[in-house]
Amino acid sequence: MHRVNRTGQDGERFLGAVDAVVRAQMCSGCGLCAAMDPRLRMREVNGFQRPVRVTDEPLPPARDRELARQFHAACPGVQVRAQRPAGSHRDATLGPVQGLWAAHATDPATRFRGSSGGVLTALNTFLLAEGEATSVLGARADAADPRRTVPVTIMSREQALQAAGSRYGPTATLSAQAAPLRADQAVTGKPCEASALRAHARAAGTDAPVILSFFCAGTPQQGATDALVEELGLPEGAPLEDLWYRGRGWPGEFTAVARDGRRVRTGYSASWGAALGPTVQWRCRVCADGVGESADISAGDYWELDAQGDPDFAERPGRSVLVARTARGRDIVLRAAAAGVIALEPVSARSAVARQPYQSARRRLLLGRLLGTRLLVGRVPSYRGFGLLGSALRAPRATWRELRGTITRIRDRRRRGFRS
Ligand SMILES: Cc1cc2nc3c(=O)[nH]c(=O)nc-3n(C[C@H](O)[C@H](O)[C@H](O)COP(=O)(O)OP(=O)(O)OC[C@H]3O[C@@H](n4cnc5c(N)ncnc54)[C@H](O)[C@@H]3O)c2cc1C
Ligand code: SF4
Repeated sequence: MHRVNRTGQDGERFLGAVDAVVRAQMCSGCGLCAAMDPRLRMREVNGFQRPVRVTDEPLPPARDRELARQFHAACPGVQVRAQRPAGSHRDATLGPVQGLWAAHATDPATRFRGSSGGVLTALNTFLLAEGEATSVLGARADAADPRRTVPVTIMSREQALQAAGSRYGPTATLSAQAAPLRADQAVTGKPCEASALRAHARAAGTDAPVILSFFCAGTPQQGATDALVEELGLPEGAPLEDLWYRGRGWPGEFTAVARDGRRVRTGYSASWGAALGPTVQWRCRVCADGVGESADISAGDYWELDAQGDPDFAERPGRSVLVARTARGRDIVLRAAAAGVIALEPVSARSAVARQPYQSARRRLLLGRLLGTRLLVGRVPSYRGFGLLGSALRAPRATWRELRGTITRIRDRRRRGFRS
């Protein structure tokens, strides 16, 4: 069903290239290809967002060749290049850095509603209020069925607040508007969406929009959300009024509210850790960029640490780690702070990395995962500039263990019926 094209012939090169990425299970579901060509729509396939061809209309060969060229440069299932913005220095885990802070929104409602410190929502609102962005593309719960997540075009503070909070389900943010976007627009999206946008603007010869991103451990399968709601006591398909994964506190609780008023909830470790995280698509397991390197600004959790130095998920007022990567990003952060929209406290890279054990371990051992995936699945994205070989050479035994573990995990996933 999700095959968009089998041939790759003249006039069909672009769709053939998209199909090859999807078949290799390297599609992240970012939606860029659907934004490039209206013959594609993003649909749910095996619980993830995938491009599906909706018309047989061919493209003129010159247009087809141009789209294929842009796709090869920008699709995160084909390649991701680590960017080196002028004036930044590179941290092995955090990527390019021009400013690093612990931060939170100063407006209590935004801080409360946000996933961690509400800084992305505060910055979205600031960009709109300053006229620096005419709209911000983001993601929010589908009003018709809040179990699902849909892209949203944010034009006001109210809409930004409604879209606050992390959505641990598939959504193809970039599919909502035709690519390339304009420089007076903004996007808040996953790292794969940020890299697709940045690389596509470069390939299309346009100025990129303002790009905000967040640290990301991957997109869980839609079915994991549906099953969790049921497991917590609401019948399958019961109409919902709202569903949020976290936020409304830090980290907040996974909460589903039925239209008849019933409410079920569970904590962050039980929802992300036990139910959702294990279903993350394989493309995300082999991702070199879980920190939004291609964005102007990216944010993650600035967890407190317990006595053993591990992240402590006890409830408290939210705090994000905020990374300015480009001069444009740094300028926006500093102006938002001067305007009193966000509060900043400079922190060291070492302190930020200590609070992100998953991100630093994944990057350190990624080469082993990529090799294991290459052996069993056949194709992986090309990553340049992330220092993966250097990391593997510094830890050869751990990389070898990761390779063997990857093969076991892929076989296990196949036994359990995972197709992505
Ligand atoms: C799938 C996923 C995995 C994550 N993994 C990590 C991790 O490993 N480590 C870590 O530190 N942080 C992770 N986060 C990020 C973290 O939960 C917060 O988003 C981050 O700390 C910023 O918080 P905030 O309060 O500033 O953002 P908020 O003010 O809550 O704003 C969040 C913004 O992100 C957008 N958004 C939410 N979900 C999605 C989505 N699925 N796709 C596209 N846009 C979306 C919203 O529209 C909103 O604009 C993850 C988030 C997601 C969605
Ligand atoms: S990763 Fe994005 S651009 Fe590439 S095939 Fe999937 S949806 Fe399309």
